[in-house]
Amino acid sequence: YYLQQIEQHADLNIYVEVYAEEAKEQARKLDQRFRENPQAPGRLHGMVLSLKDVLCYEGHGVTAGSRILEGFESQFSATAVARLLEEDAIVIGRVNCDEFAMGSTTETSVYGPSRNADNPDYVPGGSSGGSAVAVQADTCLASLGTDTGGSVRQPAAFCGIIGVKPTYGRISRYGLLAYGSSFDQVGVLVNSVEDAALLLEIMAGPDEFDSTSSQTPVPPYSEQLDFAGKARIAYFPTALEHPSLDPEVRAASQQLIEQLRNEGHTIEAVDFDYLDYIIPAYYVLTTAEASSNLSRYDGIRYGYRSGDAHSLMDTYKKSRTEGFGTEVKRRIMLGTFVLSAGYYDAYYTKAQQVRRLIQEKTLSILEEYDFILIPAAPGTAWKLGDTVDDPVAMYLADIFTVQANMVGIPAVAFPLATHSNGLPIGLQLMAGKFEEARLLAFLHDVV
Ligand code: GLN
Repeated sequence: YYLQQIEQHADLNIYVEVYAEEAKEQARKLDQRFRENPQAPGRLHGMVLSLKDVLCYEGHGVTAGSRILEGFESQFSATAVARLLEEDAIVIGRVNCDEFAMGSTTETSVYGPSRNADNPDYVPGGSSGGSAVAVQADTCLASLGTDTGGSVRQPAAFCGIIGVKPTYGRISRYGLLAYGSSFDQVGVLVNSVEDAALLLEIMAGPDEFDSTSSQTPVPPYSEQLDFAGKARIAYFPTALEHPSLDPEVRAASQQLIEQLRNEGHTIEAVDFDYLDYIIPAYYVLTTAEASSNLSRYDGIRYGYRSGDAHSLMDTYKKSRTEGFGTEVKRRIMLGTFVLSAGYYDAYYTKAQQVRRLIQEKTLSILEEYDFILIPAAPGTAWKLGDTVDDPVAMYLADIFTVQANMVGIPAVAFPLATHSNGLPIGLQLMAGKFEEARLLAFLHDVV
């Protein structure tokens, strides 16, 4: 069924590679094992998944949507992927994304853009846009994405599905091609909260290969989906009155606020004055981290090598020049600049200070409130091509998702309404660190 769906939706450009024969073979093996031993199927027995093209899967290609990794094959599986396979999930293919997860539309991918299944003239969001359409178009049951500044939640919102970014450190980053290491988290794009809970509890937990993975015990999220009692929820007037916010997204947010209030939850306006500082600080810090992380792609060790280089330096320069796309180069240059002697304090140190302020303020709000409610994006999906020549406009559209990554807290995006333009409107809830259980339960039982 899913292979048929993939074929039928070929025009949406979702998959970079489909593992058709392998997936069928895996399914046959699972069937046979189940017949022989019906007692012990894995917890994901036969669940069909796709992987964003930044997650390593042993023996399979991975390119981060980039020419620089052309022909590269993973030597091992990402911890998150390995844990799902151990529970008998079936990986049906790897899906498109922005190059090195840098973007909000999938248009920076070397494979060309994916398209929104609700309207193929519109972007699916990004950077995990392929993951979002893969689920939206019913080509798999769930997809793994990654979220550095909203890349799971924004495409989920643009495609009308659920996207969950866990607490930083909740899921191992081992085997995830790094973009901004102090921001990156693996997340899930799914149709149901139950599926999100199950996938997260299987992937989460300590991993000796990632020193930033947390030792905090993982609760069985999937067994804790009942939300008892009433919640305390904060929302920011600075967000709901933000000039960039689409009036219909504002109206949908206000409607949910009213609904939650009527159901007896406490939902209050809270001052948050840092909203407009989040994007500048995020793009200084993540480009700095990216410029360092991407220095390993030198034309020697991985993937693409220029055929026209005649010395070592020439090999580095030409391979990187030919291998990286425009957006990635822009960010490497920006990141190198903000880390350079003479500018380091003015940009990098300053952005770290802003990050600290945003962290402290957000965490103090989350001491008083269970959740923060905020739109997932200022508007709905936009037309293909609309931000291609205007990267700053694209960056600014991340205004509501980046906060969770700056602070390292979990956040979910979920569909709430349909805009008069026919596209889904998604909202977002953030919670305190390691509060995934309550967050998922609230989404499951209340929203
Ligand atoms: N759009 C943001 C960026 O380009 C977020 C990307 C992400 O979360 N990977 O950086």
